[in-house]
Amino acid sequence: MASTPIASKIIPKAARVPIDPAQIEYTSNRQKNAVEALINEFTIYPQLLQDIKANFMEGMNKGLKKDGETMAMVTSYVMGRLDGSEVGSYLALDVGGTNLRVVAVHLTGGGEITTRQTKYRIDERLKVGDAKALFDFMAVCVDSFLDEHQITVRGDTQFELGFTFSFPVLQTSINRGTLITWTKGFNAAGMVGKDPVAYLQDAFNRRHLPVRVAALVNDTVGTLLAHAYNHPDTCMGVILGTGCNGAYIEKIENITKWKGDASAEEMIINMEFGAFDKERVILPLTMFDNKMDRKSVNPNKQILEKMIAGMYLGEITRNILLNLIDRRLLFEGNISPDLNQMWTFETAYMSTIEADGSATLHATRKILESTLNFSSTTINDRQIVKLVVQLVGKRAARLSAAAIAGVLEHTGAWKQKAAIGIDGSLFEYYPSFNTDIMDGLEEVFGPVVRQNVSIGLAQDGSGVGAALCALLAAKHSN
Ligand code: ADP
Ligand code: MG
Repeated sequence: MASTPIASKIIPKAARVPIDPAQIEYTSNRQKNAVEALINEFTIYPQLLQDIKANFMEGMNKGLKKDGETMAMVTSYVMGRLDGSEVGSYLALDVGGTNLRVVAVHLTGGGEITTRQTKYRIDERLKVGDAKALFDFMAVCVDSFLDEHQITVRGDTQFELGFTFSFPVLQTSINRGTLITWTKGFNAAGMVGKDPVAYLQDAFNRRHLPVRVAALVNDTVGTLLAHAYNHPDTCMGVILGTGCNGAYIEKIENITKWKGDASAEEMIINMEFGAFDKERVILPLTMFDNKMDRKSVNPNKQILEKMIAGMYLGEITRNILLNLIDRRLLFEGNISPDLNQMWTFETAYMSTIEADGSATLHATRKILESTLNFSSTTINDRQIVKLVVQLVGKRAARLSAAAIAGVLEHTGAWKQKAAIGIDGSLFEYYPSFNTDIMDGLEEVFGPVVRQNVSIGLAQDGSGVGAALCALLAAKHSN
């Protein structure tokens, strides 16, 4: 149970070294035609970007009017904004990934944050066993974390804790909700329909821990808040990692389905935008997307997410490469047993290939020959692979831009200074992802958007953001 402090993140400098299809020396006209067809299918031309944005805005409005729409537009119960002057110490518990994390967040004011965190491994048996045992384990982790870091409370006060529980939850208050379904390999008995906060609070109480679960937090909402602490004009938080989703600040009067407290002016909405266009009316899905979707654990769901997020881009690329191989347009029709396996083409390889600017494309060659065990490749093969990767990666970034543009136009935020915080390895490591997004925004709003809107890497939305959510919850209830 090693303690692993969060390193401060900076946006890496790796940029795409683009390949121009006109520079490729095609081996045949058939190959050239096949590549041109792919370019046509995968390019989000400016008019299509505008149309997707318009359709996305309609989807937002539908979800704000009533429950059960394609984009859920979940009311987060987080009201009020941060200005960076907030001070205090809070705890965050992050459950939903491979590891469980406990984070102590100390806000020093002036936008400064210090954190201490420890990761704990969740035993596979606990994930699918008795729910009470799982939540008792969470309480044990918090208990040993407080011990390890010698953190105590004064008198009979309590720690306020933000609970990032990254599973689909129907939220009913800032610290109440019901689990809709388990995902990601968790399946603890009897939890669906129950309130994870109540389970966690009971587990804390059984151990007599002075901890109150103040907020139940979605990672997009946490990302928005974490970014807002350093950038008070933050209007949106986005996740571009394994999956994709976003949250933004909405005026209460626009949330027509909202029946709760109307005294506050605005609330953060968790859009669940990965579900956009379930109806398949606007997104330019290809046979390569459909092939991947059919084999996924959730066919026909999360259609936009599947065209954008890190979990899927490599698999879409693999499907295109296999198709070219089967038509004897790539690798002389030779396959590699590795590439024949689903999900073997990792999205991280795409980052390496995009950044490969060498004349021989030697980084690309290394992935194909050393990692994927192709017996040999030609420069023509490697150029085609690089172009395919570029098409899939750029499409993902431009679709992200369409979604972000939808929010900026809906809120009018592009007209003034506004910041967007983005968390996730895809955004952090994929070459030129941020540039492609900004280019897309400029197509929609013109050059002014570059002066007004900044996009930055948010720090730890599920740790720092959850702590800030606990702070806002405490502030709002006082
Ligand atoms: P999570 O979304 O689960 O919190 P991350 O933000 O780390 O986790 O995102 C993980 C996803 O990012 C994986 O799907 C992986 O494919 C993708 N990824 C990891 N490294 C890279 C990279 N270097 N370039 C592009 N994508 C990456
Ligand atoms: Mg994450």
